[in-house]
Amino acid sequence: MHNAALAELGMGEGWSYEAIEVAPDGFEERVRAMPGEGFAGANVTVPHKGAALALADTLSETAREIGAANTLVFSVGEIAADNTDAEGLLNALPATPAGKRALVLGAGGAARAVVWALGREGAEVEVWNRTELRSRNLCEELGGDPVSTPDASDYELIVNSTAVGLNGEDPFEELPLTPEGFAAGQVIVDLVYGEEPSRLLAAAGAAGAAVVDGIEILVQQGALSFRIWTGREAPLDAMRAAARP
Ligand code: NAP
Repeated sequence: MHNAALAELGMGEGWSYEAIEVAPDGFEERVRAMPGEGFAGANVTVPHKGAALALADTLSETAREIGAANTLVFSVGEIAADNTDAEGLLNALPATPAGKRALVLGAGGAARAVVWALGREGAEVEVWNRTELRSRNLCEELGGDPVSTPDASDYELIVNSTAVGLNGEDPFEELPLTPEGFAAGQVIVDLVYGEEPSRLLAAAGAAGAAVVDGIEILVQQGALSFRIWTGREAPLDAMRAAARP
């Protein structure tokens, strides 16, 4: 996706984006070596988002408040940490969530960025999680209200930020949702992405709801990171074409 964006902008000669796999105990050493190897920055994903925050010299307000970084920027003698997951989600939505009643499913790292972003924009956020203690703790820290037995039809926006669907789980078994709870006028977001459209989004779309998939969110957070590193607006369509299976 990033290499497609670089090629589209004619930057493919000087720049490239590559995947580096690293174990948690080697993470800090690997990152600290990167500026000397010519890297301008890095995306960081699970399970390193907290470690990335901890090693950075400066933090954006977003990264600090969410408590996780997905983007690092290297400049002489300094590592800066940012988080584009929150704004990426907002950019992927068809309209502002301000004033909307929103249900966030999950209380892991992804849910933290979602709850923070929606609350910041002025949505009325409720959070459900399988392990209730985690949703209560998340709301205490980041805002929103925990909910135990939500009725999907009460919400204008629903965001699945659990891992349900990643390994073929049935969302209507694992989550407090039924296909009948979806209707036109709602926006349903699924952060989980794979080769097929998710079962959750297929049911939501069939009921007339607007849907946003995890690939669009991946593209949007990537586009923001791209701009931070290169100073150039990312060509979204080239990134989408590269990211979609
Ligand atoms: P995480 O920190 O491991 O959290 C996992 C969450 O899923 C927890 O809330 C967990 O609930 C819940 N969960 C797992 N299995 C469940 C089940 N069978 N039934 C109900 N809840 C279940 O993971 P994460 O980093 O937040 O990521 C969550 C998902 O979002 C992943 O699939 C990831 O690929 C996706 N994601 C997508 C993007 C994107 O750009 N599209 C970005 C970030 C993440 P408990 O607390 O009860 O265990």
